[in-house]
Amino acid sequence: MALIEQLRAYRLTLDPTPAQLQALTRHAGAARWAYNHAIAAKRTAHEEWRRQVDELVAAGVDEAAARAQVRVPVPTKPAIQKALNAAKGDSRLGIEGACPWWWEVSTYAFQSAFVDADQAWKAWVDSHRGQRAGRRVGYPRFKKRGRARDSFRLHHNIKQPTIRAATYRRLQLPRIGEVRLHDSAKRLSRAVAAGRAVIQSVTISRTGHRWYASVLVRQQTAVPDRPTPRQTAAGVVGVDLGTRHLAALSTGELIANPRVKAAHARRISRVARAYARTEKGSRRREKLRQRLGRLHHREALQRAGAAHALTKRLATGWATIVVEDLNVAGMTRSARGTIHAPGRNVRAKSGLNRALVDVAPGELRRQLEYKTAWYGSTLVVADRWYPSSKTCSACLSVKPKLALAERTFCCAECGHEVDRDINAAINLARLGQQLPAQLAVAPGTEETSNARRAGVRPSSSRASGQPALTREDPRHRRGSPRRSDPPVVPTAA
Ligand SMILES: [Zn+2]
Repeated sequence: MALIEQLRAYRLTLDPTPAQLQALTRHAGAARWAYNHAIAAKRTAHEEWRRQVDELVAAGVDEAAARAQVRVPVPTKPAIQKALNAAKGDSRLGIEGACPWWWEVSTYAFQSAFVDADQAWKAWVDSHRGQRAGRRVGYPRFKKRGRARDSFRLHHNIKQPTIRAATYRRLQLPRIGEVRLHDSAKRLSRAVAAGRAVIQSVTISRTGHRWYASVLVRQQTAVPDRPTPRQTAAGVVGVDLGTRHLAALSTGELIANPRVKAAHARRISRVARAYARTEKGSRRREKLRQRLGRLHHREALQRAGAAHALTKRLATGWATIVVEDLNVAGMTRSARGTIHAPGRNVRAKSGLNRALVDVAPGELRRQLEYKTAWYGSTLVVADRWYPSSKTCSACLSVKPKLALAERTFCCAECGHEVDRDINAAINLARLGQQLPAQLAVAPGTEETSNARRAGVRPSSSRASGQPALTREDPRHRRGSPRRSDPPVVPTAA
């Protein structure tokens, strides 16, 4: 066993009193106000910068030179906070201002919203300059009441904690008091009492009609150095994540998507139809909106339960789990494309997209990453170019083309027929079996759980034709494949 320190969230369901409910709503409102206030300050500075640049350009200065010359700093948290402190007012003293009600809520609701605004702005700037991986980030928008998620974050001084589990059934929150819990905080409470966990912050949010607290702790977790004999005996499993199924395993098992029960689906569509017929702004519309939210929420909980059950079963059942590196953001983008680049095969793809959104393979992958660390197994991520779907798992010949609609893989070379996703899973498992022994050993002695995540990239540079097995920096692995990494067909091990 080795101890690793990690950040971990405990999610608790709150059961607030009517007065506490009001306080929660007020805090969420204050956080939204503070976020919008910060974004507005940043936008004002940015617009001023743009105006000065335009002025110089109009006066004949080159655009690039003008951009370099004009300096209007975009304010961040310290400056925004300082300016607001001077202008916020105080309703207790009858002093008018930007937010004279500030004293009714915890100061942390403001502070964490300012931090979030800083992050949103930085994400946009970095994305704009091409310094940020992943999907393009848009210009920071204002949060609208009713549309944006109701949420706020509270911090405390960890030396004098004010966020704590008062009992197994009560969570103490600064300014809000002891809130009754719908579920038990026993695990959190025990970890804190034993000195294994230190509470860092709590994020309170509303989903549907329920309020949740996500308590973030820094925790010492004992993780096994190596897989158990049972995991070792089971060996490698290849997993094709979430297309038509929740998962397909190289063992031949298909795990179905959690289906919404027919009666539940019927109720959702009935309520949705009734909602569509109501008049905007009516009380009945609001009532049905809430009901619809509750029904959707219940469905989401069921789906989350199925995902956790699957990832735990994989992480505890095998020594090595091989998945494919899906470009999830790309796959869920609209299949219709744009005017300039219309999408091809729209019908098949939008079906796939819907299924993907349904099971969120990115989430399954995230859960596998930390759960393999917990249970002594290893997660291997195959490069996106590894042709797991197009390779015949029996004779290893590769099909040049495989339409999305082809649910069964029929090999033109050897005549092998197998479910498309199982075929892909078997190919992934084979890749995992080629791992050198030292990679398969879980390095529990290293500091982070990341250390045991190995990346596999087949490469043509190997004279033997064997795939090169490399351990990559996980930060790079998520990026786009390099041009120097041509797709290559691995031969049999
Ligand atoms: Zn074949």
